[in-house]
Amino acid sequence: MNYDACVRTVEPYVPGEQPNQPGMIKLNTNECPYPPAPSVAEAIRQMDMDKLRLYPDPEAKELTGALADYYHVKKEQVFVGVGSDDVLSMAFLTFFNSGRPILFPDITYSFYDVWANLYRIPFERPKLDENFRIVKEDYKKENGGIVIPNPNAPTGILEGVDTFEEIVKANPDSIVIIDEAYIDFGGESCLPLIEKYENVLVVQTFSKSRAMAGMRIGFAIGNEKLIRYLNDVKFSFNSYTMNQTALAAGVKSIEEDAYFKESVAKVIRTREAAKLRLRELGFTFPDSYSNFIFATHREKKASDLFEQLKTRNIYVRYFDAERICNYLRISIGTDEEMEAVFRALQEILQ
Ligand SMILES: *Cc1c(COP(=O)(O)O)cnc(C)c1O
Repeated sequence: MNYDACVRTVEPYVPGEQPNQPGMIKLNTNECPYPPAPSVAEAIRQMDMDKLRLYPDPEAKELTGALADYYHVKKEQVFVGVGSDDVLSMAFLTFFNSGRPILFPDITYSFYDVWANLYRIPFERPKLDENFRIVKEDYKKENGGIVIPNPNAPTGILEGVDTFEEIVKANPDSIVIIDEAYIDFGGESCLPLIEKYENVLVVQTFSKSRAMAGMRIGFAIGNEKLIRYLNDVKFSFNSYTMNQTALAAGVKSIEEDAYFKESVAKVIRTREAAKLRLRELGFTFPDSYSNFIFATHREKKASDLFEQLKTRNIYVRYFDAERICNYLRISIGTDEEMEAVFRALQEILQ
């Protein structure tokens, strides 16, 4: 038997661990330390169980409508999926078909190369500069599409809308995806670009700033034509990606804007305080506009710090990859959780 040639072999993405230890401090997957809005819980409690008997709305009209109102676009400009991973993978499948290599930075979200391999899309990874900044000239060569997170992961570095406008403008023959998973933590969104340029798609998620990683909701906003193409592919794949509960909870989350903004503001305050404390402890890091800090210590190896934090039941993220293997990515938790991290680091470092 040799059916190897029949198999689509892939090297899968490895997500951060989801340990479940009593008393653990979990700062390894950029989840929100606060719960979603109370009305989200209420909406789930009030779910009409009879609804589970029925298929959900394949067009997810209520949720796309709520997002369209919130972001002042037409509902035909919004696409929703099972987390932004689903949206992004669908976008790769839909838009990266020219046979030309797509471009994304050498240091970035580590799912991009996995999808590219899965879908047999050739790719190139222009190097970030020595400060982990994007070199925009690298994205002005022939390509089959571009995908860049802003702020970038796992560095937390934010680039200006003008940088992305330049990249979008330079690439009228390919689609530029801007992955704004962390944009709510103080960055300026590239959403206004979608009104000016046909070839840009902005992707966001409920998983980080909206505290709903467990619910799996992500969305893309672009011009109507791009969204139509995305929907054509989605409806050729699985019509019912969004379940009834996610649809109801997602709408409530959008409606409770004051709660959302306060929750994000708390994370930002804690992040800014953490920057000062980490500096005092001898860490350096690129300035973060996300809900994590990507830090390296001037003496102690990141892999050792990672292991020693783990023995204290504190989970952060470590990437054993070129150029970043001496960094820890520490998600921003509550003030109390961060205090515990600083205390632990102080002990380990002395
Ligand atoms: C977390 C993350 C995502 C995916 O999040 P979902 O939970 O699938 O919405 C996408 N891109 C980046 C850069 C992320 O950090």
